[in-house]
Amino acid sequence: MNRRNALSMLAAGAGASILNNSIGQNDAIAQRYQVANPHNEKLKITKVKAIHTYPNGTGFGIVKVETNEPGLYGLGCATGIRRYKTLTAAIDEYLAPLLKGKDPDNIEDIWQTTNLGTYWRNGPILNTALAGVDQALWDIKAKRANMPAYQLFGGKSRFAVDTYGHASGRDFEELKDSIQSFQDRGFRHIRMQLGIYGAPHLSKGDPDFKRAGFGRKTDTVMEIRPYMKIIPKMFEFARSEFGDEPEFLHDIHELLPPIEAINLVKELEQYRPFFIEDPFAPEDNGYFKMLREQTSCAIAMGELFNNPHEWVNLITERLIDFIRIHISQIGGITPALKVARLAEWFNVRTAWHGPGNTSPVGHAGNAHIDLSVWNFGIQEQTDFKEETLEVFPGTPTIENGYMHINEAPGFGIDINEELAAKYPLPEEPWYRPTVRRPDGTVVRP
Ligand code: MG
Repeated sequence: MNRRNALSMLAAGAGASILNNSIGQNDAIAQRYQVANPHNEKLKITKVKAIHTYPNGTGFGIVKVETNEPGLYGLGCATGIRRYKTLTAAIDEYLAPLLKGKDPDNIEDIWQTTNLGTYWRNGPILNTALAGVDQALWDIKAKRANMPAYQLFGGKSRFAVDTYGHASGRDFEELKDSIQSFQDRGFRHIRMQLGIYGAPHLSKGDPDFKRAGFGRKTDTVMEIRPYMKIIPKMFEFARSEFGDEPEFLHDIHELLPPIEAINLVKELEQYRPFFIEDPFAPEDNGYFKMLREQTSCAIAMGELFNNPHEWVNLITERLIDFIRIHISQIGGITPALKVARLAEWFNVRTAWHGPGNTSPVGHAGNAHIDLSVWNFGIQEQTDFKEETLEVFPGTPTIENGYMHINEAPGFGIDINEELAAKYPLPEEPWYRPTVRRPDGTVVRP
């Protein structure tokens, strides 16, 4: 039965013959309930394309889905700068022909058919490409409803989105200034790191592997003991300087052997961190039970997750407190809403990944879900530079530590394509610097 017939049956009441249906009846219903474009037979996806831009030294990937309704299009985040040419091919050469002519309203169907369309699924590149399309379709649907996207997710559960800022310094004094700058701006939640992840600056001189000519020049070192000794001291320092009120966070970034991560988290419990992030790599998920038995310190996990097998048990067995999924990495808004709803039943809170290499479109997506789901926990935020804000008008704003979205229909964010084109991504491939032990052994991640 097609859509017209279904609507006509509804109009005629139970038992009425579908032969009596007419488009006129449908139009009468549409008029009564003020349904715009009731048959939706002509709305179609006409174009799907990847847009990459590099406004202030950070690359962003966006999917634009256009329709045959003049001016109606959607935007989604599909940022994966280290393999962006692969993403561009996935979007422009595979998803675009697959989706052309489809009804953009059927988001779930498009998500399922695209996800299953390769048979081998749940990988980072194809998930990210699909996420761009998925968010763009929610953007289109919300624009058609003339509502901000969060209204489609259930409306507001809070007035704004509480966030945490990234404080860091190579030593305690630098860190103190950095924490102070966030406090001065009204942040209540502050993540503390010493230098870059793993604090390689704590090592004295060049690591042994570099002196031996092993690895590449850009590789960094992670030494277990110096890192494990300094992090409890960092918390002690922060508590002595700033008192008990601020909520402090720390990201282990999966750099420790699992048993040492357990030892460190146990030691940090006395400083009451808001959460400790990524104590293990996803490959070591099996250690969470052991961690839970040892400490009640709040744990956040998940920014590298791709596959439901990675998060379902952690949530349903109550092994984590915050789910930190990178929304584009799991395929977009549609699966993220499902994760949030699953987590609600287990009182696991959301803390979506929101770093500087998620596009402003992705941050807007995070924020619209944050506003609506009951089990929102906290949102990682980024201060974008002026050039980025010019490319992406409507980027969420931060005030007093809270993220605010605008109330424009959709995700309330746009892209200035002409300006975006002035910041092309570099041609050469981007490689993440490898982290190694002093003997050269590669460390996750
Ligand atoms: Mg992290």
